[in-house]
Amino acid sequence: MLENTGRTELSSLGEFGLIKHLTQFIQIKNESTIKGIGDDAAVIDYKDKQTVISTDMLVEGVHFDLAYVPLKHLGYKSVSVNLSDIYAMNATPKQITVSLAMSNRFSVEALEELYQGIMMACDKHKVDIVGGDTTTAKSGLVISITAIGEANADELVYRDGAKDGDLLCVTGDLGGAYVGLQLLEREKKIFMESPGVQPDLGGNDYILERQLKPEARKDIPPLLKLLEVKPTAMIDISDGLASEILHICTQSEVGCNLYEDKIPIDPSTYNTAREFNLDPTVCALSGGEDYELLFTIDQSDFPKIKANPNITVIGHMTSRKDGVNLIAKGGTTHPLTAQGWDSILKG
Ligand code: ADP
Ligand code: MG
Repeated sequence: MLENTGRTELSSLGEFGLIKHLTQFIQIKNESTIKGIGDDAAVIDYKDKQTVISTDMLVEGVHFDLAYVPLKHLGYKSVSVNLSDIYAMNATPKQITVSLAMSNRFSVEALEELYQGIMMACDKHKVDIVGGDTTTAKSGLVISITAIGEANADELVYRDGAKDGDLLCVTGDLGGAYVGLQLLEREKKIFMESPGVQPDLGGNDYILERQLKPEARKDIPPLLKLLEVKPTAMIDISDGLASEILHICTQSEVGCNLYEDKIPIDPSTYNTAREFNLDPTVCALSGGEDYELLFTIDQSDFPKIKANPNITVIGHMTSRKDGVNLIAKGGTTHPLTAQGWDSILKG
Protein backbone atom coordinates (compact mmCIF):
# COMPACT_ATOMS: atom_id res chain seq x y z
CA MET A 1 0.00 0.00 0.00
CA LEU A 2 1.01 3.63 -0.33
CA GLU A 3 2.88 4.95 2.71
CA ASN A 4 2.26 8.53 3.75
CA THR A 5 5.25 10.40 5.13
CA GLY A 6 6.40 13.98 4.23
CA ARG A 7 4.93 16.31 1.65
CA THR A 8 5.57 15.81 -2.04
CA GLU A 9 4.46 18.69 -4.27
CA LEU A 10 2.13 17.77 -7.14
CA SER A 11 4.45 19.67 -9.50
CA SER A 12 7.25 17.19 -8.81
CA LEU A 13 5.28 14.39 -10.50
CA GLY A 14 3.38 16.22 -13.22
CA GLU A 15 -0.03 15.12 -14.48
CA PHE A 16 0.99 11.83 -16.07
CA GLY A 17 3.31 10.96 -13.19
CA LEU A 18 0.54 11.64 -10.73
CA ILE A 19 -1.99 9.47 -12.58
CA LYS A 20 0.53 6.65 -12.76
CA HIS A 21 1.39 7.05 -9.10
CA LEU A 22 -2.20 7.06 -7.88
CA THR A 23 -3.36 4.19 -10.06
CA GLN A 24 -0.33 1.90 -9.76
CA PHE A 25 -2.01 -0.60 -7.42
CA ILE A 26 -5.31 -0.87 -9.25
CA GLN A 27 -6.14 -4.43 -10.28
CA ILE A 28 -9.04 -5.49 -12.46
CA LYS A 29 -11.54 -7.77 -10.69
CA ASN A 30 -14.42 -8.11 -13.15
CA GLU A 31 -14.74 -10.18 -16.30
CA SER A 32 -16.84 -7.39 -17.83
CA THR A 33 -13.86 -5.00 -17.70
CA ILE A 34 -12.18 -5.60 -21.05
CA LYS A 35 -9.88 -2.57 -20.89
CA GLY A 36 -9.24 -0.41 -17.81
CA ILE A 37 -6.87 2.50 -17.23
CA GLY A 38 -4.23 3.27 -19.84
CA ASP A 39 -5.90 3.78 -23.18
CA ASP A 40 -8.04 6.59 -24.57
CA ALA A 41 -11.16 4.92 -23.22
CA ALA A 42 -12.17 1.94 -21.12
CA VAL A 43 -13.98 -1.00 -22.72
CA ILE A 44 -16.77 -2.89 -20.93
CA ASP A 45 -18.79 -5.89 -22.07
CA TYR A 46 -21.99 -6.80 -20.22
CA LYS A 47 -23.07 -9.26 -22.90
CA ASP A 48 -26.87 -9.67 -22.66
CA LYS A 49 -27.27 -7.39 -19.63
CA GLN A 50 -28.35 -3.75 -19.54
CA THR A 51 -25.91 -1.00 -18.56
CA VAL A 52 -26.68 1.41 -15.71
CA ILE A 53 -24.71 4.67 -15.38
CA SER A 54 -24.73 7.37 -12.71
CA THR A 55 -22.49 10.34 -11.91
CA ASP A 56 -22.05 12.45 -8.77
CA MET A 57 -19.79 15.41 -8.16
CA LEU A 58 -18.50 16.46 -4.75
CA VAL A 59 -17.17 20.00 -4.33
CA GLU A 60 -15.04 21.14 -1.39
CA GLY A 61 -16.87 23.71 0.73
CA VAL A 62 -20.24 22.61 -0.68
CA HIS A 63 -20.38 18.85 -0.13
CA PHE A 64 -17.51 18.33 2.28
CA ASP A 65 -15.37 20.27 4.73
CA LEU A 66 -11.79 19.07 5.08
CA ALA A 67 -11.64 20.65 8.54
CA TYR A 68 -13.23 17.46 9.87
CA VAL A 69 -13.42 14.99 7.00
CA PRO A 70 -10.28 12.85 6.66
CA LEU A 71 -9.33 12.40 2.99
CA LYS A 72 -9.49 8.63 3.25
CA HIS A 73 -13.08 8.85 4.44
CA LEU A 74 -13.86 11.34 1.71
CA GLY A 75 -12.59 8.91 -0.92
CA TYR A 76 -14.65 6.10 0.56
CA LYS A 77 -17.77 8.26 0.74
CA SER A 78 -17.37 9.56 -2.82
CA VAL A 79 -17.55 5.98 -4.06
CA SER A 80 -20.38 4.97 -1.69
CA VAL A 81 -22.69 7.78 -2.78
CA ASN A 82 -22.26 6.81 -6.43
CA LEU A 83 -22.71 3.08 -5.93
CA SER A 84 -25.82 3.78 -3.88
CA ASP A 85 -27.48 5.13 -7.04
CA ILE A 86 -26.68 1.92 -8.91
CA TYR A 87 -28.10 -0.27 -6.11
CA ALA A 88 -31.21 1.97 -6.15
CA MET A 89 -31.82 0.73 -9.71
CA ASN A 90 -31.66 -2.84 -8.31
CA ALA A 91 -28.45 -3.20 -10.34
CA THR A 92 -24.87 -4.28 -9.54
CA PRO A 93 -22.03 -1.75 -9.90
CA LYS A 94 -18.96 -3.06 -11.72
CA GLN A 95 -16.82 -0.12 -12.76
CA ILE A 96 -16.15 3.51 -11.81
CA THR A 97 -14.22 6.39 -13.31
CA VAL A 98 -12.67 8.98 -10.99
CA SER A 99 -12.13 12.58 -12.04
CA LEU A 100 -10.24 14.99 -9.86
CA ALA A 101 -9.56 18.71 -9.96
CA MET A 102 -7.31 20.04 -7.20
CA SER A 103 -5.15 23.03 -6.36
CA ASN A 104 -1.49 22.78 -5.38
CA ARG A 105 -2.60 23.10 -1.75
CA PHE A 106 -2.90 19.29 -1.95
CA SER A 107 0.23 17.19 -1.74
CA VAL A 108 0.80 13.87 -3.48
CA GLU A 109 0.44 12.23 -0.04
CA ALA A 110 -2.99 13.85 0.47
CA LEU A 111 -4.21 12.45 -2.86
CA GLU A 112 -2.77 9.05 -1.96
CA GLU A 113 -4.96 9.07 1.13
CA LEU A 114 -7.98 9.99 -0.94
CA TYR A 115 -7.20 7.08 -3.27
CA GLN A 116 -6.77 4.68 -0.37
CA GLY A 117 -10.37 5.41 0.62
CA ILE A 118 -11.55 5.13 -2.99
CA MET A 119 -9.81 1.76 -3.39
CA MET A 120 -11.08 0.47 -0.06
CA ALA A 121 -14.67 1.10 -1.16
CA CYS A 122 -13.97 -0.44 -4.58
CA ASP A 123 -12.59 -3.59 -2.95
CA LYS A 124 -15.61 -3.86 -0.69
CA HIS A 125 -18.03 -3.56 -3.62
CA LYS A 126 -15.86 -5.53 -6.09
CA VAL A 127 -15.75 -2.58 -8.46
CA ASP A 128 -12.97 -1.78 -10.97
CA ILE A 129 -11.52 1.73 -11.41
CA VAL A 130 -11.32 1.89 -15.19
CA GLY A 131 -10.38 5.51 -15.85
CA GLY A 132 -10.85 9.12 -14.99
CA ASP A 133 -9.34 12.51 -15.49
CA THR A 134 -6.90 14.57 -13.48
CA THR A 135 -6.59 18.31 -13.72
CA THR A 136 -5.59 21.33 -11.69
CA ALA A 137 -8.00 23.79 -10.12
CA LYS A 138 -7.36 27.37 -8.95
CA SER A 139 -8.55 26.39 -5.50
CA GLY A 140 -10.07 23.52 -3.60
CA LEU A 141 -10.85 19.94 -4.52
CA VAL A 142 -13.57 18.55 -6.79
CA ILE A 143 -14.22 14.82 -7.10
CA SER A 144 -16.50 13.49 -9.80
CA ILE A 145 -17.17 9.76 -9.94
CA THR A 146 -19.14 7.90 -12.57
CA ALA A 147 -20.41 4.47 -11.62
CA ILE A 148 -21.33 1.86 -14.21
CA GLY A 149 -23.25 -1.29 -13.44
CA GLU A 150 -25.28 -4.11 -14.91
CA ALA A 151 -28.72 -5.62 -14.49
CA ASN A 152 -31.05 -7.94 -16.31
CA ALA A 153 -33.64 -5.80 -18.07
CA ASP A 154 -36.47 -7.42 -16.08
CA GLU A 155 -34.75 -6.73 -12.74
CA LEU A 156 -34.31 -2.97 -13.09
CA VAL A 157 -36.47 -0.89 -10.75
CA TYR A 158 -37.37 2.71 -11.63
CA ARG A 159 -38.90 5.54 -9.60
CA ASP A 160 -42.16 5.56 -11.52
CA GLY A 161 -43.69 2.14 -10.81
CA ALA A 162 -45.41 2.65 -7.42
CA LYS A 163 -49.16 1.88 -7.35
CA ASP A 164 -52.01 2.93 -5.08
CA GLY A 165 -52.06 0.38 -2.22
CA ASP A 166 -48.35 -0.52 -2.40
CA LEU A 167 -46.41 -0.63 0.86
CA LEU A 168 -43.61 1.90 1.43
CA CYS A 169 -40.44 0.32 2.84
CA VAL A 170 -37.06 1.57 3.95
CA THR A 171 -33.80 -0.19 4.80
CA GLY A 172 -31.70 0.44 7.93
CA ASP A 173 -32.35 3.55 9.98
CA LEU A 174 -32.49 7.27 9.21
CA GLY A 175 -31.27 10.64 10.46
CA GLY A 176 -27.89 9.39 11.72
CA ALA A 177 -25.75 11.10 9.08
CA TYR A 178 -27.39 14.44 9.80
CA VAL A 179 -26.92 14.36 13.57
CA GLY A 180 -23.36 13.12 12.98
CA LEU A 181 -22.79 16.26 10.92
CA GLN A 182 -24.22 18.46 13.70
CA LEU A 183 -21.73 16.91 16.10
CA LEU A 184 -18.80 17.53 13.75
CA GLU A 185 -19.92 21.11 13.09
CA ARG A 186 -20.17 21.78 16.82
CA GLU A 187 -16.68 20.46 17.52
CA LYS A 188 -15.29 22.43 14.57
CA LYS A 189 -16.79 25.62 15.97
CA ILE A 190 -15.32 24.95 19.42
CA PHE A 191 -11.95 24.25 17.82
CA MET A 192 -12.05 27.48 15.78
CA GLU A 193 -12.84 29.49 18.90
CA SER A 194 -10.25 27.78 21.13
CA PRO A 195 -7.80 25.68 19.08
CA GLY A 196 -6.29 24.11 22.23
CA VAL A 197 -9.50 22.21 23.05
CA GLN A 198 -9.55 18.60 21.89
CA PRO A 199 -12.71 17.50 20.09
CA ASP A 200 -15.19 15.60 22.25
CA LEU A 201 -16.53 12.95 19.90
CA GLY A 202 -16.33 9.90 22.15
CA GLY A 203 -19.23 7.49 22.34
CA ASN A 204 -20.72 8.71 19.08
CA ASP A 205 -19.13 6.20 16.73
CA TYR A 206 -22.34 5.14 15.02
CA ILE A 207 -23.59 8.56 13.95
CA LEU A 208 -20.07 9.73 13.04
CA GLU A 209 -19.65 6.70 10.78
CA ARG A 210 -23.05 7.38 9.24
CA GLN A 211 -21.79 10.83 8.25
CA LEU A 212 -18.12 10.14 7.47
CA LYS A 213 -18.21 6.61 6.10
CA PRO A 214 -21.65 5.80 4.72
CA GLU A 215 -22.19 2.30 3.35
CA ALA A 216 -24.12 1.86 0.10
CA ARG A 217 -26.67 -0.95 0.53
CA LYS A 218 -24.93 -3.57 -1.57
CA ASP A 219 -26.79 -6.27 0.35
CA ILE A 220 -30.31 -5.16 -0.60
CA PRO A 221 -30.65 -6.11 -4.31
CA PRO A 222 -29.51 -9.72 -3.62
CA LEU A 223 -31.68 -9.85 -0.49
CA LEU A 224 -34.76 -8.78 -2.47
CA LYS A 225 -33.95 -11.39 -5.07
CA LEU A 226 -33.62 -14.07 -2.39
CA LEU A 227 -36.95 -13.03 -0.88
CA GLU A 228 -38.47 -13.07 -4.38
CA VAL A 229 -39.62 -9.48 -4.07
CA LYS A 230 -39.27 -7.05 -6.95
CA PRO A 231 -39.99 -3.51 -5.73
CA THR A 232 -42.43 -1.52 -7.85
CA ALA A 233 -40.31 1.63 -7.37
CA MET A 234 -37.00 2.39 -5.65
CA ILE A 235 -34.73 5.37 -4.85
CA ASP A 236 -31.77 5.90 -2.54
CA ILE A 237 -32.00 8.36 0.34
CA SER A 238 -29.48 11.08 -0.38
CA ASP A 239 -31.55 14.19 0.32
CA GLY A 240 -33.83 13.03 3.15
CA LEU A 241 -36.81 10.72 3.40
CA ALA A 242 -39.40 13.44 2.63
CA SER A 243 -37.74 14.53 -0.58
CA GLU A 244 -37.29 10.94 -1.83
CA ILE A 245 -40.91 10.01 -1.07
CA LEU A 246 -42.01 13.06 -3.05
CA HIS A 247 -39.84 11.94 -6.00
CA ILE A 248 -41.46 8.49 -6.05
CA CYS A 249 -44.95 9.99 -5.68
CA THR A 250 -44.46 12.57 -8.42
CA GLN A 251 -42.95 10.13 -10.88
CA SER A 252 -45.39 7.32 -10.07
CA GLU A 253 -48.40 9.69 -9.90
CA VAL A 254 -49.55 8.39 -6.52
CA GLY A 255 -50.04 9.80 -3.03
CA CYS A 256 -48.63 8.42 0.22
CA ASN A 257 -49.34 8.10 3.93
CA LEU A 258 -46.12 7.97 5.94
CA TYR A 259 -46.45 7.03 9.62
CA GLU A 260 -44.12 8.95 11.93
CA ASP A 261 -44.06 6.19 14.55
CA LYS A 262 -42.82 3.66 11.98
CA ILE A 263 -39.75 5.64 10.82
CA PRO A 264 -36.68 3.67 11.99
CA ILE A 265 -34.37 5.88 14.06
CA ASP A 266 -31.39 4.49 15.99
CA PRO A 267 -31.35 5.33 19.74
CA SER A 268 -28.01 7.15 19.37
CA THR A 269 -29.47 9.28 16.57
CA TYR A 270 -32.53 9.96 18.69
CA ASN A 271 -30.58 10.96 21.79
CA THR A 272 -28.09 13.16 19.96
CA ALA A 273 -30.87 14.92 18.06
CA ARG A 274 -32.49 15.67 21.41
CA GLU A 275 -29.20 17.05 22.77
CA PHE A 276 -29.18 19.49 19.86
CA ASN A 277 -32.84 20.37 20.44
CA LEU A 278 -33.69 18.80 17.09
CA ASP A 279 -36.77 16.72 16.40
CA PRO A 280 -35.46 13.24 15.48
CA THR A 281 -38.28 12.84 12.96
CA VAL A 282 -37.22 16.03 11.18
CA CYS A 283 -33.63 14.72 11.05
CA ALA A 284 -34.92 11.59 9.30
CA LEU A 285 -37.23 13.50 6.97
CA SER A 286 -34.90 16.30 5.95
CA GLY A 287 -31.39 15.36 7.04
CA GLY A 288 -30.27 13.29 4.09
CA GLU A 289 -27.03 11.43 3.35
CA ASP A 290 -28.30 8.22 4.94
CA TYR A 291 -27.85 6.27 1.68
CA GLU A 292 -30.49 3.76 2.65
CA LEU A 293 -32.92 2.46 0.03
CA LEU A 294 -36.56 3.51 -0.09
CA PHE A 295 -38.88 1.29 -2.11
CA THR A 296 -42.47 0.27 -2.66
CA ILE A 297 -43.79 -3.29 -2.90
CA ASP A 298 -47.07 -4.90 -3.80
CA GLN A 299 -49.15 -5.67 -0.68
CA SER A 300 -49.12 -9.37 -1.54
CA ASP A 301 -45.32 -9.37 -0.97
CA PHE A 302 -45.69 -8.24 2.67
CA PRO A 303 -45.31 -11.74 4.20
CA LYS A 304 -41.96 -12.13 2.42
CA ILE A 305 -40.40 -9.02 4.01
CA LYS A 306 -42.21 -8.63 7.32
CA ALA A 307 -39.76 -10.56 9.48
CA ASN A 308 -36.65 -9.11 7.86
CA PRO A 309 -34.60 -6.93 10.23
CA ASN A 310 -33.15 -4.91 7.32
CA ILE A 311 -36.53 -3.67 6.10
CA THR A 312 -39.20 -1.54 7.80
CA VAL A 313 -42.65 -0.78 6.40
CA ILE A 314 -43.23 2.94 7.05
CA GLY A 315 -46.39 3.68 5.09
CA HIS A 316 -48.47 2.96 2.03
CA MET A 317 -49.19 4.56 -1.28
CA THR A 318 -52.57 6.17 -1.94
CA SER A 319 -54.21 7.82 -4.90
CA ARG A 320 -52.62 11.03 -6.17
CA LYS A 321 -55.59 13.13 -5.09
CA ASP A 322 -55.12 12.12 -1.44
CA GLY A 323 -51.74 13.86 -1.42
CA VAL A 324 -48.48 13.01 0.33
CA ASN A 325 -48.96 13.04 4.10
CA LEU A 326 -47.20 12.40 7.35
CA ILE A 327 -49.44 10.81 9.98
CA ALA A 328 -47.85 12.18 13.17
CA LYS A 329 -47.53 10.20 16.41
CA GLY A 330 -50.63 11.94 17.79
CA GLY A 331 -52.68 10.83 14.77
CA THR A 332 -52.84 14.23 13.05
CA THR A 333 -52.21 14.46 9.30
CA HIS A 334 -49.67 16.90 7.82
CA PRO A 335 -48.82 17.45 4.15
CA LEU A 336 -45.24 16.36 3.54
CA THR A 337 -42.87 18.85 1.91
CA ALA A 338 -39.28 18.45 0.77
CA GLN A 339 -38.22 20.33 3.92
CA GLY A 340 -40.04 17.94 6.25
CA TRP A 341 -43.63 18.64 7.02
CA ASP A 342 -45.73 21.76 6.94
CA SER A 343 -46.48 22.25 10.61
CA ILE A 344 -42.75 22.52 11.36
CA LEU A 345 -42.26 25.23 8.76
CA LYS A 346 -45.25 27.17 10.03
CA GLY A 347 -44.47 26.52 13.69
P1 ADP B 1 -6.41 11.56 -22.04
O1 ADP B 1 -5.39 12.58 -22.37
O2 ADP B 1 -6.74 10.60 -23.15
O3 ADP B 1 -7.62 12.13 -21.35
P2 ADP B 1 -5.20 10.99 -19.55
O4 ADP B 1 -3.76 11.25 -19.62
O5 ADP B 1 -6.07 12.02 -18.92
O6 ADP B 1 -5.72 10.59 -20.98
O7 ADP B 1 -5.43 9.63 -18.78
C1 ADP B 1 -4.65 8.50 -19.04
C2 ADP B 1 -5.34 7.28 -18.49
O8 ADP B 1 -5.45 7.40 -17.08
C3 ADP B 1 -6.77 7.11 -19.01
O9 ADP B 1 -7.02 5.72 -19.07
C4 ADP B 1 -7.60 7.74 -17.93
O10 ADP B 1 -8.90 7.20 -17.90
C5 ADP B 1 -6.81 7.40 -16.69
N1 ADP B 1 -6.97 8.38 -15.59
C6 ADP B 1 -6.70 9.71 -15.62
N2 ADP B 1 -6.94 10.29 -14.43
C7 ADP B 1 -7.36 9.30 -13.60
C8 ADP B 1 -7.76 9.24 -12.24
N3 ADP B 1 -7.82 10.32 -11.44
N4 ADP B 1 -8.12 8.03 -11.73
C9 ADP B 1 -8.10 6.94 -12.51
N5 ADP B 1 -7.73 6.91 -13.78
C10 ADP B 1 -7.36 8.08 -14.35
MG1 MG C 1 -7.67 13.12 -19.54
